[in-house]
Amino acid sequence: MKAFVLAEPGKVRWFNAPEPEIEPYGAICKPIAVTPCSSDVHTVFGGGSPKQPNLVLGHECIAEVIQVGDCVKDFKPGDRVAVPAITPDWRDKSIQEGNYKHASAPFSGHQLGRTQPGVFAERFLIKDADTTLAKIPEGITEEQALMSVDVVTTGFTGAEYADIKFGDSVCVIGIGPIGLMAIAGARLCGAGRIIAVGTRPICVELAKKYGASEVLNYKNGDIAEQVKYLTDGIGVDATIIAGGNAEVLTQAYDMTRYGIGTISNINYFGGTGYLPLPIFSGGRGMCGKTLHMELAKGGRVRIERIMSMIQYNRVDPQPLVTHHLQGLDKVEDALYMMRDKPKDLIKVMVHCE
Ligand SMILES: [Zn+2]
Repeated sequence: MKAFVLAEPGKVRWFNAPEPEIEPYGAICKPIAVTPCSSDVHTVFGGGSPKQPNLVLGHECIAEVIQVGDCVKDFKPGDRVAVPAITPDWRDKSIQEGNYKHASAPFSGHQLGRTQPGVFAERFLIKDADTTLAKIPEGITEEQALMSVDVVTTGFTGAEYADIKFGDSVCVIGIGPIGLMAIAGARLCGAGRIIAVGTRPICVELAKKYGASEVLNYKNGDIAEQVKYLTDGIGVDATIIAGGNAEVLTQAYDMTRYGIGTISNINYFGGTGYLPLPIFSGGRGMCGKTLHMELAKGGRVRIERIMSMIQYNRVDPQPLVTHHLQGLDKVEDALYMMRDKPKDLIKVMVHCE
């Protein structure tokens, strides 16, 4: 079958990959629509950990179930499903300790397009259908379902780990698709003032639509100084990092309140260098600021809950899909679009049939 693979670091190609084989708890699915993610761009062009040869890329997908294993209870061929980007192994014993993102090994929850063949192929296997696949409810568009599997859950993860309470002031650094959903998530968690940081005009407009009270431009000076200026010098209750390079950690510490502030990072840091934390930014080790660094929440229930929030009009990720391409073979173009970011692009959806 036709699959879009990582041939070697920095190089992608189309490859005649082996057909997935059904497993007792598994489902074989055929993509209806897929979208490349910045993390596919990192996987291909950004180095990262060594990958198996001809790894099938992709982890954002809605699909049709075409075959299920003997032990699958809730799904049958023909079902339309959202496939979570993060697919924890719910049979690992670490799950009983609540460690579902990194059960048994670091990043074990991120399998598709990393340790398992991904979704940029004519067919792919989900090893545990009942705990992984999410049923798409009535009244949800394909665009909305596709955005649920990674973009919405990741942005919301950022808001959840920011420990936002009613009335908290929040800064969201980065207003790409994930940052935009972090803004929407912060608003849903009860944030008062939401300060966003970003510059792309299409994203600035959406940031305001999703709940940003104001949008700062890093070109106008150090963002920590700008946030402190707006908050009478004390900083925000919570900072969500959804973009930026290594120096963003220092900025996040500096703009977050002493004593009770929380920093929630959902940004991917490429390379192999360091995340600097100046001694004074950490209050000489006594600043009382909490830092979380989190992988998105995944699995079936998470994505079904997010789609219920879309169904009942709590959030609408539809405007994030700014571009459409037709045919699975357009995945390659879509990946380059995500890398090169034309100015009106947020997410590109590839319709597979
Ligand atoms: Zn992704």
